[in-house]
Amino acid sequence: MHKLMSEDLQGLSDRQLRARRRRLAATVERLETALPGSLVWQGRRCSSAGCRCRRGELHGPYLYLALYVGGRNRTLYVPAGLEAVVADYVAVTERNDAAREEIARINVELLRRRALG
Ligand SMILES: [Zn+2]
Repeated sequence: MHKLMSEDLQGLSDRQLRARRRRLAATVERLETALPGSLVWQGRRCSSAGCRCRRGELHGPYLYLALYVGGRNRTLYVPAGLEAVVADYVAVTERNDAAREEIARINVELLRRRALG
């Protein structure tokens, strides 16, 4: 569903906002797959002093999940066998989060009009 900004939402009637909210809620799926963060490919240095990675030829690239948890950034290694699963979880989470954020903007607009409920 094409995403509407708050300014665009102001141009819709109460009825249109409620219909849009209902359609958005129906797109939310598979909440059990919630996994925040973004996927990044990174090269790595190992611990061997004489290794080619010390001259800039990094190992990999390997896939990592970049996360913000507990007030700090972390990267979590994604094993090769889990790349497809993790990519699917992250994609579903992004879509669900986008739908929830737009529903929240609609509810703010409805509250502003005293039309929530
Ligand atoms: Zn190395």
